[in-house]
Amino acid sequence: MLIIPCPWCGERDESEFSYGGRAKPLPPLDAPANDWQTALHVHENPDGWHEELWFHGFGCNQWLVARRHTRTQEISGTRAPGEMS
Ligand SMILES: [Zn+2]
Repeated sequence: MLIIPCPWCGERDESEFSYGGRAKPLPPLDAPANDWQTALHVHENPDGWHEELWFHGFGCNQWLVARRHTRTQEISGTRAPGEMS
């Protein structure tokens, strides 16, 4: 079980959140269809630190970006999606 530090609500149980996938930039709107297909349907399986999106549906109803280690499940920090990492 994860404890996720929401930037607005503080530390909360994972059960209050929905996983939104890896936080990565999307291709430009006029990018070829193959680029969009890859961005939306091809998922990496990183080993180590990566950033991912979570939605705090049973809290502030906001999206956040969490930096999580995929082996240890440690979360080193969270931020609003619009903030720089
Ligand atoms: Zn929250």
